[in-house]
Amino acid sequence: MHEPSASTRELMAENETLRARMAYLLEQAERNHEIMCRHQAFDLQIVGAGSFPDLISTIFRTLPVISELDIVTLSLVDPDADIYTVMHRLGTDFEQFPHLMFCEHAVELGFDMSPERRPRPLLGPYAPAQHCAAFPHPPAGLQSVALVPLLRNTRLIGSLNLGSADPTRFTPQLGTDFVEHMGSIIAICLENVISNEMLKYIGLTDSLTGVYNRRYMDRRLLEEIARARRQGYRLSCMYIDIDHFKRVNDTVGHQGGDDVLREVCGRIKAELRMSDALGRFGGEEFVVLLIDADLESASTVAQRIRASVAAQPVDLSSGERVDVTVSIGVAELAIGPFPAQSIESARDIAIETVAQDLVASADAALYQAKAGGRNKVVTFA
Ligand code: GH3
Ligand code: MG
Ligand code: MG
Repeated sequence: MHEPSASTRELMAENETLRARMAYLLEQAERNHEIMCRHQAFDLQIVGAGSFPDLISTIFRTLPVISELDIVTLSLVDPDADIYTVMHRLGTDFEQFPHLMFCEHAVELGFDMSPERRPRPLLGPYAPAQHCAAFPHPPAGLQSVALVPLLRNTRLIGSLNLGSADPTRFTPQLGTDFVEHMGSIIAICLENVISNEMLKYIGLTDSLTGVYNRRYMDRRLLEEIARARRQGYRLSCMYIDIDHFKRVNDTVGHQGGDDVLREVCGRIKAELRMSDALGRFGGEEFVVLLIDADLESASTVAQRIRASVAAQPVDLSSGERVDVTVSIGVAELAIGPFPAQSIESARDIAIETVAQDLVASADAALYQAKAGGRNKVVTFA
């Protein structure tokens, strides 16, 4: 065997180096492909989120895993707390999202807001004093962070805040294309889901008083009756009507009447439990569904409402005060025995009839309260 010549040895060494380089590049390519696939799956997941809590929980649950981050937080610009209020009223449990924050003004997010420039991501070492708003509860060992502006057109709607224990993960020199792309998809999804939830909310509530509207109450009544039957709890209904409201309008004007409607709603709500539902059924008429309440406890609540409305005159925005009273009729859902119905639609019809009867009973009791002199509670016998 001949010893390989020097030039052959050189070639072999070069070959080895190239192979190693190739293997490394392949490995990198595979890793990048894998990251890309995970991110594509994430994009699809957030695009498909059906509700605000669904979207937020997907971001908080999935993003730290696929991006190998130690913390992800989200700050949303919410000047009049509209987003917070609507999401809360639609059932978002904010305690489940400790990393979701709201701020009043976009400037609080710390981006360069000069009018001619688009806010850019801020990447660099973690500095507790500088980043306390983005990371109020930072994990131990946080080293580098990226604050990514969430933009819709030129409007800053929030900030996506990424944190890593790796000091080299986010450095000012690093390209920002990737996080900007991620920010823009998240911003679109947030805006979509927020406007859908807002629409949903508007469709379910009364714009004057903020309580549920009749359409919502009609649907909720059917759901609650079905559930009360299934789970065997008691369900009661109140029909509330403001006494001589025409006279109130005549005395203090329509605007004053509107103030009274809002204040009466506030006083009714103050006496209810979270699980109860209050809706405006018509002009000055309200219906309350009391979940897990029999006739006796419902009429106790009704008496409290009546007393609270009568106790103090209502302060109007004009500075005037006006005395107001309400009359209330209370009825309880009759429980069983129900005819066994096998066909779904037949059962639905039955529930609708039961719902109408329940409200009609409360209304009949209200009529008696009016006939009995107003400022009264009557239970349906
Ligand atoms: P009663 O004690 O018998 O209930 O007398 P009432 O005057 O309250 O009876 P009625 O139901 O006839 O009058 C309701 C009034 O409510 C008539 C209407 O002008 C007024 N109303 C209805 N919707 C609104 C509203 O959105 N704002 C204001 N300010 N008034 C309203
Ligand atoms: Mg009326
Ligand atoms: Mg009335």
